[in-house]
Amino acid sequence: NLFWAPVLDEGVVKHYRIRQLDEGGFFLSRRRAFSTLSEFVSHYTRTSDGLCVKLGKPCLKVQVPAPFDLSYKTVDQWEIDRNSVQLLKRLGSGQFGEVWEGLWNNTTPVAVKTLKPGSMDPNDFLREAQIMKSLRHPKLIQLYAVCTLEDPIYIITELMRHGSLQEYLQNDAGSKIHLTQQVDMAAQVASGMAYLESQNYIHRDLAARNVLVGEHNIYKVADFGLARVFKVDNEDIYESTHEIRLPVKWTAPEAIRTNKFSIKSDVWSFGILLYEIITYGEMPYSGKTGAEVIQLLGQNYRLPQPSNCPQKFYSIMLECWNAEPKERPTFETLHWKLEDYFEADSLYSDTNNS
Ligand code: AMP
Repeated sequence: NLFWAPVLDEGVVKHYRIRQLDEGGFFLSRRRAFSTLSEFVSHYTRTSDGLCVKLGKPCLKVQVPAPFDLSYKTVDQWEIDRNSVQLLKRLGSGQFGEVWEGLWNNTTPVAVKTLKPGSMDPNDFLREAQIMKSLRHPKLIQLYAVCTLEDPIYIITELMRHGSLQEYLQNDAGSKIHLTQQVDMAAQVASGMAYLESQNYIHRDLAARNVLVGEHNIYKVADFGLARVFKVDNEDIYESTHEIRLPVKWTAPEAIRTNKFSIKSDVWSFGILLYEIITYGEMPYSGKTGAEVIQLLGQNYRLPQPSNCPQKFYSIMLECWNAEPKERPTFETLHWKLEDYFEADSLYSDTNNS
């Protein structure tokens, strides 16, 4: 039994794991357990005893859980009138169009993807969106509604205040993000992916650019399944191999060879995502072309251990890059490994845990 407790320390939120003994006590470290949570709190209010700071005032909880639907009507009728969506601010432009912060029915903040005409076949998209709509998990970006009757197609989803994980990592470049947070990001993504795995669904384009960051250190997987319906034209990342385009540096070798994607090729991509997380958003295999990477991987070359990357973290990356797909871990295993990453060590500081 465990739960996470966020602690705010000079503008940075750290998460501590409070665990429960079978006989009922609470502890951060086994060396000191408390029979009630209020004794626990009063102890850490008097002394930091290994925490980053002494506990001060409780934080007000401002976060409302993201709804799964905009309203009861969009539960099954999710083609909505585009006039009910107001586009407020452009958040970014992706390879298939733009992403806007919007307001639905003048009340609900949403993100709106506007798709360039011709970037997908509406029928293909609707078929895929039907499945995407039924996938519901706290670590997956929820698809709320669509407007497909005219161009540009709108995809309306949950809004994430801090944008893509790739930009988030690059912006702070390590000044604020430490190992505990990096492991937490990875664990949250693995949790969303473990759900997709349990639903027999394949992401096909797992990468830091497709993970979004919300408030209070919440990370969610976005754009699952879209790779199948998009007609991709971003040549920097999605290189042409045979007649299709792929994000070569994120794609498992067998998926490149045969164009057969599986949850195990998603696990390979997850390994690359771990590399992005630990290097604060560096381009994997920088300086190498996609063709060079394909050739090197065939000779058993793998991305080297980044200088700040603990051996334990790198070992997880290497497991994801096993040449034999069946030998790669499941997302379920990856999830608990990352959740328990600090288990054997001190729970207290980022640096002690490397
Ligand atoms: P994409 O077309 O998915 O690559 O998105 C382009 C950019 O828009 C991303 O890099 C994010 O910064 C931003 N973005 C995409 N989806 C969302 C969302 N649901 N909430 C907030 N920002 C988003």
